[in-house]
Amino acid sequence: MREKISIFWFRRDLRLEDNTALHYALQSGFEVMPIFIFDKDIIDLLEDRADARLSFIHDRITQLKAALQLAGSDLVIRYGTPETVFSELLSAYEIDGIYANRDYEPYAISRDLKINTIAEAKGTQFYDFKDQVIFEKGEILTDAGDPYKVFTPFKNKWLNKFNALKLTQFPIDVTQGFLLSSHPEPILSLSELGFEKTKIIIPSSDVAEKVITKYDQQRNFPAIPGTTKLGIHLRHGTLSVRQLVVVGDKLSPTWLNELIWREFYMSVLAHFPQVVDRAFKPKYDHVPWRNDEEGYEKWCEGMTGYPIVDAGMRELNATGFMHNRVRMVTASFLTKHLLIDWRWGEAYFAKKLLDFELASNNGGWQWAAGTGTDAQPYFRVFNPTSQMEKFDKDLVYIRKWVPELDTSSYPKPIVDHKFARQRAIDTYKEALK
Ligand code: FAD
Repeated sequence: MREKISIFWFRRDLRLEDNTALHYALQSGFEVMPIFIFDKDIIDLLEDRADARLSFIHDRITQLKAALQLAGSDLVIRYGTPETVFSELLSAYEIDGIYANRDYEPYAISRDLKINTIAEAKGTQFYDFKDQVIFEKGEILTDAGDPYKVFTPFKNKWLNKFNALKLTQFPIDVTQGFLLSSHPEPILSLSELGFEKTKIIIPSSDVAEKVITKYDQQRNFPAIPGTTKLGIHLRHGTLSVRQLVVVGDKLSPTWLNELIWREFYMSVLAHFPQVVDRAFKPKYDHVPWRNDEEGYEKWCEGMTGYPIVDAGMRELNATGFMHNRVRMVTASFLTKHLLIDWRWGEAYFAKKLLDFELASNNGGWQWAAGTGTDAQPYFRVFNPTSQMEKFDKDLVYIRKWVPELDTSSYPKPIVDHKFARQRAIDTYKEALK
């Protein structure tokens, strides 16, 4: 008779601290085998062999494996589709339960349903937990029980509930409850997965307190390191959102507000999954986008002749990060000045951003294009020159990324601002009739 075990499946929660599902797995009464799957269905789609997100995940998995091995256990790592991996595990082991933290993206929801079915057929339970957010789908609703479509009332409800909440943390003791391993398995290398290490430097999860205390004054200026760059850590759960909201609550309401935006967009995606490929406001699907491939290429490369747009795109291409203010300006430029479909821009950011997250990326793009919840109205078109004068008046950020600014090799604007603004307004107006 084989000993029964529990499985804990790491996904967007790559940490051993304050991890809800792992905490409950360790209380299951069965020894816990932690696993991580390099999901073939996801990583085979990555175009860049040196994708920085994959390097980051690989590093993190290596650290988790080392920490577990030090405690006499191991992290089991597989490459394949989750269905194949779980079918094999369910045949090889007597598994009482599979524990995982919930993920709200459409792919993850359908993947988990499949694993649930495979597990049930073997008499194994799939247990999932809230971990990635403070409040999930269905928890922040209007008094009439509907999901919010606008941020401010969502935020007010969120804060009311948060203030009444006693936040629980979920401690983990790596020396207790894990399945012991006498023959630890080697880790799959990046090259065995078909990838190579990125040259991009990943922002640290260790942020100086003063970045958060001064966030309110500094967050809009891309030349200042005035935001936390924690996006990638929130995306992959290398930090716990429960710990971060406590910091925000104590040090900066403005920063906490940003974490609430994150939950707002997750709520929008969970309640209105059609936003993945359609405008949140259906009428906006009538906007006749120009499929201008040349303009799009210039935008991607940072060669539009608008310095703040070009600086942003070059920062993104070189570092995998772009400052929020500049994300708004570049996204507005693509969708309004060039009238290019927001989905093109969304896809490009998804490829490049270290902190790429479906809900926030989609929300940010639909906001900029005017098609989303709470969106920038179509007739408000950012002027890239005044944005530059307001937020980078000494051109410090711009000169860093566009060193040839004052030379003849810097391109002339690919479109005239006044003309483009009017064209955008007229086109939207006509489409929304
Ligand atoms: P900070 O300013 O320090 O904020 C802390 C955290 O709060 C962020 O890491 C993020 O998790 C969250 N946050 C901050 N601002 C927002 C916001 N406006 N919406 C949702 N969450 C927010 N954010 C992503 O996490 N992933 C994306 O793929 C993404 N794509 C975007 C695309 C566009 C077109 C726009 C306009 C915004 C996008 N954002 C996205 C939101 C925002 O720009 C980034 O979260 C922020 O710039 C990340 O920098 P930071 O980590 O220094 O955040």
